[in-house]
Amino acid sequence: MTNNFLKTSIEYLKGVGPERGKLLRDELCINTLEDLLSLYPYRYVDRSRFYKVSEIVSAEAYVQLKGYISNIQFHGKRRITRMTAVFSDGTGSLELVWFRGFRWLKNAFKPGVEYIIFGKPAWYGNKINIAHPEVETVVEGHISQSPGMRPVYSSTEKLKNKGLGSKGINKLIKTLIDDRRLKIEETLPLGITESLRLLNRHDALINIHFPHDNNLLDRASTRLKFEELFFVQLNLLRLKKLRTEKARGVIFGQVGSFFNRYYNDILDFELTDAQKRVTREIRYDVKSGRQMNRLLQGDVGSGKTVVALMSILLAIDNGYQACLMAPTEILSQQHYSVILKSLGKTGVKVGLLTGSTKAGERKNILRDLINGDLHFLIGTHALIEEVVKFRNLGFVVIDEQHRFGVAQRAKLWYKNNIISPHVLVMTATPIPRTLAMTVYGDLDVSVIDQLPPGRKAVKTIHQYDGNRLKVFGFMRDQIKKGRQIYVVYPLIEESEKLDLKDLKDGYESIARAFPLPQYGVSIVHGKMKSADKNYEMERFARGETQIMVSTTVIEVGVDIQNATVMVIENSERFGLSQLHQLRGRVGRGAEQSYCILMTGNKLTNEAKERIKIMVETNDGFKIAETDLKLRGPGDIEGTKQSGILEMKIADIIKDEKILKTARNYAVKITEEDPMLEKPGNYPLRKRYEELYLTKKSWGKIS
Ligand code: ADP
Ligand code: MG
Repeated sequence: MTNNFLKTSIEYLKGVGPERGKLLRDELCINTLEDLLSLYPYRYVDRSRFYKVSEIVSAEAYVQLKGYISNIQFHGKRRITRMTAVFSDGTGSLELVWFRGFRWLKNAFKPGVEYIIFGKPAWYGNKINIAHPEVETVVEGHISQSPGMRPVYSSTEKLKNKGLGSKGINKLIKTLIDDRRLKIEETLPLGITESLRLLNRHDALINIHFPHDNNLLDRASTRLKFEELFFVQLNLLRLKKLRTEKARGVIFGQVGSFFNRYYNDILDFELTDAQKRVTREIRYDVKSGRQMNRLLQGDVGSGKTVVALMSILLAIDNGYQACLMAPTEILSQQHYSVILKSLGKTGVKVGLLTGSTKAGERKNILRDLINGDLHFLIGTHALIEEVVKFRNLGFVVIDEQHRFGVAQRAKLWYKNNIISPHVLVMTATPIPRTLAMTVYGDLDVSVIDQLPPGRKAVKTIHQYDGNRLKVFGFMRDQIKKGRQIYVVYPLIEESEKLDLKDLKDGYESIARAFPLPQYGVSIVHGKMKSADKNYEMERFARGETQIMVSTTVIEVGVDIQNATVMVIENSERFGLSQLHQLRGRVGRGAEQSYCILMTGNKLTNEAKERIKIMVETNDGFKIAETDLKLRGPGDIEGTKQSGILEMKIADIIKDEKILKTARNYAVKITEEDPMLEKPGNYPLRKRYEELYLTKKSWGKIS
């Protein structure tokens, strides 16, 4: 029961109490002593050496100086607004400045006493000053616990007001570490710590908070990162193993008439080799008797939907129902109308259920679903609602997964009472390997790495807003050739009103430059009624209008082969994966397509970088890698909901090497000792239980 101490509520730690305890809970989610112990510093400042005033060259870094403080002065007319002092160390002098705390500071400095100051120097002409330096006397400095690297913790204004800034938090951690009841147990098996020469957990935790030296700090952080990544991987791999070994899957043993009619009579192109390979992988899974959980990756336009459709027909051939869930209403409708058209002759009964399905229609769909008259349901989130009940759901396709959270994916497994349906997750945004390993580590992966033949790579061009007339000229030429054009505006939630105005202004100026009756311009945005949206989309699809002005509602999935130009306004405001998605809306037919990225003149370095990679390449994986590097994993859509990336210390990009090692060890252990029963794996099992399992669920597994 040694570890129970760490489960103690935070307010019982000496120096905390109810008021600070509540603040720590509210502000930093620290509930227990264990939470406090794993609040790691987010950076360290080097206080291992003293600078001389004469050595200060850059205004960048923090420095530590030793010297004397004199000539304290107060400034301000009626009230004191500023206090200054001169600091000198024999090699030169600089000014110290304070803008608050005068009453306390007034008598704090004594002449002839040597002080250590610490802060960030700033240059004013040829003078240096340091605002609000940390000051302590040399004597104090000697007794402070960590003379070298000092930890810095993130804190908040509210916590700072209660004395819990970085220093205050560090002090609490010191109190905890000094408590004799604290026992830090090892969580990794000896086999791993020894072969990787990892620091033990006790030393790692001490050194992450109070680094003895740089080397130990480094080893402490490696050890803790490894541990964090290792347990995430262990969990994902165990989930996967459990599902593949224990979760029974429905069996699609035969190929029937639905599939054959589609394949022989309707499909009017040859599948690419990649599509054939993936189809085989899926067919193997659904015959195996085990439940399939597969991620299908492929760049926009690579033909994922066809593969999904064939799998769905296989399910229906075997007497099961299927559903396809898409992230937006427009996309569901588009899927529905395309699929309806191509399945028309097969006799498959398809339905569409979205938020705007009329009550009567909805009632019919739900009835047909439960009595089995409906084979195949397409729709939005509406599909996972409790009231939607299938007779025997056998196959689930989730399109453009990055819009769904992992929890939503899981909900669909329970739509069949007896056996979970097979699940195929399709994503059009390629995911870098490291991210896929973490976010989808529990899925099998298939990749369509080949585009259908005859596609011409989209030409991407960057244009400044000043060149708009030239762009209009280009658009006219393309329309003359019979092509259609998308013009897309960003819509970012915080400034939705402003953005909508942008869009409407843009629409008006385009409507003026492309007047009726020669031209037709459509407009679609999220604030429109869905009937109006459909009306406009259909007019454009039929070729009655040549230009479609819209927000990103057309980002995913829309497939109009005659549209060959994508103009993206304010493209500096879009993320890379979004730009790539948008570009994927063109280049679907045989004609040369273009993507024109419009920007203002002033671009941040990051925006320049994004535009540059877009112009350089059409390769979705390359773009995804760059995106991850520029933005970090936390910002990639979908990963936030997954929760998996909320790591305390590891960073899946910077720590890619550690991640791979952790994954390899997790694979090895899952294979050698799946139930974690070997004596050597006892610490591991204990920690795993603590992190991921309630007693009950462990029972279910064993
Ligand atoms: P994705 O969902 O991967 O973006 P889709 O399945 O929507 O791609 O396919 C894009 C377009 O390419 C569709 O019009 C589809 O009919 C067509 N297509 C798919 N596979 C092939 C193929 N093997 N040969 C020719 N056209 C194809
Ligand atoms: Mg698609």
